[in-house]
Amino acid sequence: MIVTIDGPAGSGKSSTAREVARRLGFRHLDSGAFYRALTYAALAAGIPPERWPELSAADLDAFQVHATLAERGYRLLVGDTDVSDRIRSPEVNANVSRIARIPAVRGWLLERLRDAARGTDLVADGRDLGTVVFPDADLKIFLVADPTERARRRLAEQGVTTPSAGELAAEVERLTLRDRIDSEREIAPLTKPADAVVLDTTTLDFDEQVERVVALVRARQRGARD
Ligand code: C5P
Repeated sequence: MIVTIDGPAGSGKSSTAREVARRLGFRHLDSGAFYRALTYAALAAGIPPERWPELSAADLDAFQVHATLAERGYRLLVGDTDVSDRIRSPEVNANVSRIARIPAVRGWLLERLRDAARGTDLVADGRDLGTVVFPDADLKIFLVADPTERARRRLAEQGVTTPSAGELAAEVERLTLRDRIDSEREIAPLTKPADAVVLDTTTLDFDEQVERVVALVRARQRGARD
């Protein structure tokens, strides 16, 4: 069974997908981590973002970005180095949407994401999982939340639990800019799949949002059996 969870930055997709996968015994595929690892590799190789649109499939191969199976998910490596805890830096955050709008990058990753899904029950999250990567997914969820709430959650993840109004406003601006680039790009934009269930998490706590998704998956599993 394939479950996709798409939505804007900070809507809680990855943390929800990870916990839903854990409760159901599925594997979790965080597609954003693949885009982040490529961004990290391009920055580490010293290639300025203005030159990224020229990257070919061979250049992308040369970065040696690949995923290995980790306990219930995937670990991202660049060469032999595990970059899982380096790909959430402000520098990667600020540049990842620039790499994600390049058609050669999306084409290169598409096959890798589909390969990762082979032979396993999966909860996959990102921006185009239900529309492009897994258009035949068994269940598609689109998570939304108010931008200020998303900014608050993002800052809390970074350890800023009582942000000032200025910090909150700056984070709203960063998230909104990333959403705009992701939604307006020509290829695989962030958009709600026509057959997705929309879940607004603004007033839900983490456990509630996980429960809602688990309930939707179980209902779909029962429906498939009947
Ligand atoms: O989900 P996360 O915030 O880690 O994603 C980082 C970035 O990767 C997004 O802002 C987007 O530009 C890109 N991305 C994408 N398509 C996906 C997943 C992520 O374009 N399926």
